[in-house]
Amino acid sequence: MNLIKSIMTNNPCYTSGRKISVKGLMLHSVGCPQPSAQAFIRNWDKSTYKSACVHGFIDANTGDVYQTLPWNHRGWHGGGSSNNTHIGVEMCEPSCIKYTGGSSFTCSDAKTARACVDRTYKSAVELFAFLCKEFGLNPLADGVIVSHKEGHARGIATNHGDPEHLWNGLNTGYTMDKFRNDVYTAMGNKVLYNEHDESYIGTITASKLNIRKQPSASSDIIGQHQFGDTIDICAKTDNGWYKVIYPNIGAGYVCADYVSVKPKNAPQSNDKAEVIKDNTPDSWAVEAIDNAVKNGILCGDDNGDYKLHNICTRQEIVVFLYRLYKKLK
Ligand SMILES: [Zn+2]
Repeated sequence: MNLIKSIMTNNPCYTSGRKISVKGLMLHSVGCPQPSAQAFIRNWDKSTYKSACVHGFIDANTGDVYQTLPWNHRGWHGGGSSNNTHIGVEMCEPSCIKYTGGSSFTCSDAKTARACVDRTYKSAVELFAFLCKEFGLNPLADGVIVSHKEGHARGIATNHGDPEHLWNGLNTGYTMDKFRNDVYTAMGNKVLYNEHDESYIGTITASKLNIRKQPSASSDIIGQHQFGDTIDICAKTDNGWYKVIYPNIGAGYVCADYVSVKPKNAPQSNDKAEVIKDNTPDSWAVEAIDNAVKNGILCGDDNGDYKLHNICTRQEIVVFLYRLYKKLK
């Protein structure tokens, strides 16, 4: 990330000099076909420009980040109470789009537009990862990283659709959930499951399992799972929680200790794979077991029971090794 300091000291928001205690970060998109961050800075860095002020612009041609307010300065970006809590950053937009009213637009050069959006997205991820570290913020926690659009839905910002309107209008596949996950990863955290491949499902192994608002046992309970329920896993946090997206709730977290996870598209070349599912292997063993069955290394007993949690005898171990030896020979 190339960070260029270019504080808009003439903007009345800067001269008013109010500070905030930073609780979150709000992502914006400028809403007009102007890729140059410096063009905005030229317009906004005036004592007569009273309508807005943000903490940064991301240039759509270069991906450069221009810091335009001290990070802990109160900005004028979200309207509503988000100005008191959130840093606001604008991503510039490609020049080849043309707004036709509201957040609708047409695009004359999809390839160029996509390159611009990819550039600003990538820099925004790096910048937000940097700011989360700087201010000790958890990017996956509720309400920490929000878009302007989400801010409105939460009642803390004015009614805008950015930046999702741009991502959706260009069919980029970018979402705020992906963005938060990418920030989390960019901070050096491990995300085991990428929410966009949607390739892992979990089965609840506790009689009742609380769904939490945040990845913490003391966080608010927003729902409950029953034994045997299946869930689509989006991400696993480092501290042992699975993130799940619920249709009418949004993100929720369940304790990973009580979820058995397997790849959704695990090879199921024969009936035995189905039996394995019933035998509920631990998540870390699923792939190996599926492959062992598929390759004839592991076979069930006469009842189709794999007894996955039983202790192995010496003769059983030798049989497994012999089958593997024959397979590799
Ligand atoms: Zn906005």
